[in-house]
Amino acid sequence: MAYDNQNIFAKILRGELPCIKVYEDDLTLAFMDIMPQTDGHTLVIPKVEAVTLFDLPASHYEACFITMKKVGNALQKAFSTEGIMMFQLSGESAGQTVPHLHFHLLPTSIQTLRTSKHAAQMADQTVLQGFADRIIAALD
Ligand code: 5GP
Repeated sequence: MAYDNQNIFAKILRGELPCIKVYEDDLTLAFMDIMPQTDGHTLVIPKVEAVTLFDLPASHYEACFITMKKVGNALQKAFSTEGIMMFQLSGESAGQTVPHLHFHLLPTSIQTLRTSKHAAQMADQTVLQGFADRIIAALD
């Protein structure tokens, strides 16, 4: 699929739309999901034009995994859980709704996941900022 540079995450990367950021480096950005499936639901995206995982250039593999590990460790500390669920939907038929590659990280338990819905309800921004502050404080 051709990359649409007007997608929401492209606009966030260019600073045209706001996000609640938890971490950023030269190749990746991590921020709070606006319709979280669990408390602390965080997204990690590469700073490159890639729609699905299969479009990601090899130059960004390592950076994505380093950021996921860094943020995952912080989520474990901030939410006092060892259980972190990570998932990635590649392609519309797999349920991908935003056409810029993103990895979901959720501090969670299987019980919570069974009852939570994907991208279903907008969260209160103040609450999200509170979670982001906890995650940022727990980053190594
Ligand atoms: P997908 O369904 O494509 O795997 O996930 C897209 C995710 O992006 C969903 O979990 C949804 O809640 C989140 N999302 C959609 N629009 C925005 C937005 O404008 N800002 C943020 N931070 N998250 C968004």
